[in-house]
Amino acid sequence: MTVICEKFSVSTKGNTDIIDITDSVKNIVYRHSLTNAVIHVYVAGSTVSVTNIEFEPGLLVDLPEALEKIAPVDKDYHHDEMWHDGNGYAHVRASIVGNSTMVPLIDGALQLGQWQQIVLVDFDNKPRQRTVHVIIQQ
Ligand code: ZN
Repeated sequence: MTVICEKFSVSTKGNTDIIDITDSVKNIVYRHSLTNAVIHVYVAGSTVSVTNIEFEPGLLVDLPEALEKIAPVDKDYHHDEMWHDGNGYAHVRASIVGNSTMVPLIDGALQLGQWQQIVLVDFDNKPRQRTVHVIIQQ
């Protein structure tokens, strides 16, 4: 098995900023001219996630609204009592959504649905610089 490790960085505004990273992932994957592989997209950090969504204006409101019900920004969090960084909600949201996704590459094409994009969601309460790792296994 061969493993190729690449990465790119993303500047975010924080506060549940949703950024379409599909083209960045495609650029890395297609540069290698592979036929079949497993593509893992992973972001390091405990207040940020990588997931999939249809990147359209309605869902860019719906997802934050759904997460606000599960982990509201203004709730009291034990994390904030301990660390006083005010981002307890961001840690909870990131844990639920997760920090990686996998996309198969089959016959040279990433198997994404027509309306399926790969997104980075930064929940932290301030702008951040994030590193996204693209791990290619074949
Ligand atoms: Zn924190």
